[in-house]
Amino acid sequence: MKTAKEIYSQLASPTEADRELVVKAYNFATKAHSEHTRYSGEPYMEHLTSVALDLAKMGMGPRTIAAGLLHDTIEDTPVTAEDIKNEFGDEILFLVEGVTKLSSVRYYGSDRHNESLRKLFVATSQDIRVLIIKLTDRLHNMQTLDHVPAEKQKRIATETLEIYVPVAYRLGMGRIRKELEDLAFPYVYPKEYKRVCDLLEAKAKKANILLEKERKYLQKKLVDSKLTNFNTAYRVKGLYSLYQKLKRRDWDIDNIYDLMAMRVVVSSVEECYRALGIIHDIWRPLPRRVKDYIAFPKPNGYKSIHTTVTTTHGNILEIQIRTEQMHHEAEYGVASHIIYKQQSLDEEPSSSWFNRLLPNLFRPFAKRSSGSEDLKVTKDIPPSEKIPRWIRQIGEMYTTEHSTGDEFISDMQEDFFANRIFVFTPIGDVVDLPLGATPIDFAYAIHSEVGDHIAGVKVNKKLVQLDTTLQNGDIVEIDTKKTAKPTHKWLDIAKTSVARRKIKSYLNTSTK
Ligand code: MN
Repeated sequence: MKTAKEIYSQLASPTEADRELVVKAYNFATKAHSEHTRYSGEPYMEHLTSVALDLAKMGMGPRTIAAGLLHDTIEDTPVTAEDIKNEFGDEILFLVEGVTKLSSVRYYGSDRHNESLRKLFVATSQDIRVLIIKLTDRLHNMQTLDHVPAEKQKRIATETLEIYVPVAYRLGMGRIRKELEDLAFPYVYPKEYKRVCDLLEAKAKKANILLEKERKYLQKKLVDSKLTNFNTAYRVKGLYSLYQKLKRRDWDIDNIYDLMAMRVVVSSVEECYRALGIIHDIWRPLPRRVKDYIAFPKPNGYKSIHTTVTTTHGNILEIQIRTEQMHHEAEYGVASHIIYKQQSLDEEPSSSWFNRLLPNLFRPFAKRSSGSEDLKVTKDIPPSEKIPRWIRQIGEMYTTEHSTGDEFISDMQEDFFANRIFVFTPIGDVVDLPLGATPIDFAYAIHSEVGDHIAGVKVNKKLVQLDTTLQNGDIVEIDTKKTAKPTHKWLDIAKTSVARRKIKSYLNTSTK
């Protein structure tokens, strides 16, 4: 199990207060979970320290790391929200509660709801750090999925592919996305997994030897051309993304050009283009395979130059050229922007799609009042509401229509998200409603029998009035009684036309 020291040692330049906070959360979690083991039989802290260490390695700050250590306390132990607030303050409580709330977002196997589930997931998290903790939590749960009872494995793995992977993709977190995909793949599609493995096996054995040979050759050529500060690496394509591509290419593995890829990481954008020149000079590029994602980044912020070449040894190889910063962003996405705070950030939050898509994403919690005793703790996020440059560029790309036909774009265009809220039933089903909707709208969205007999309403377990405005992420419970029935006043309260129509029809039939 990792020690508190191993975790805080990952912080770039931790203050005394930073270290103390991590140690305090570590000890608090150890005590809270002392009775508690994982399916593997290991102490529960194994999970919490893995999550915290991953967060620290990603470059997250001390509060996020502390919240990572505490993320299961409220849900799984007698510790209350009040306890966390008293010990760690509002901000950490907010993060822990955010992660706890996300646990109720469940995949129920209906494709129709996937997109709204993903949106709900993002909306409910409110602060980007909550999503990052949750993704890291899921990563460790997937890494240890073989210890989980078999009947649960498939549901968890499917949920990972349907909800967590697209969210990681959208946030540009390439490393976590790839790992989640490859961990979930064998559980969700065992037959297909086997087929991909068999196809790859023959190729992969030779591939590593070949790739190492090509890498050395390229390295020498780059040095000869006076490029000195760079590094090269290679990889064989992830199994799940290979599967996705094989399905589109009639399972012909020879038709997949990025099966093997080499990455060249250099110091500047200018060197990216120089490296491209050198590569095209030594190896023949395939036509129409050069993609300049530096000039035109992908909608999720991804930047690199891609080219596919035939090497001297006759291998087809995709080469990805990028700067160190681009590499870091490709691996950690949004998380890297929380760290790269010294980078130029756009001063003016634009009204880009990104704000609409993730309305609360860049509303740092730090803006709310925080206790002054906290001030020595390094801020996890930039202090003011700033939008990273790449996000602004995506906004520009979208408006100037440089975009390709990526399905992603159409997703962003709808402002659906800005005008809808997502609320839960007590068992975690999702109901989406227009902004301003009330429990009456909710009840009729469930079923007209429920709507016609509302006797009382609880929101987040508290009794409320019928005209309460529902908020994103609320858990709504309707009590019904046979004798309860709609009144004329309900017509003023209901916001959806469905509810109003049904109320009117009830009132008409009952007065006749
Ligand atoms: Mn957990």
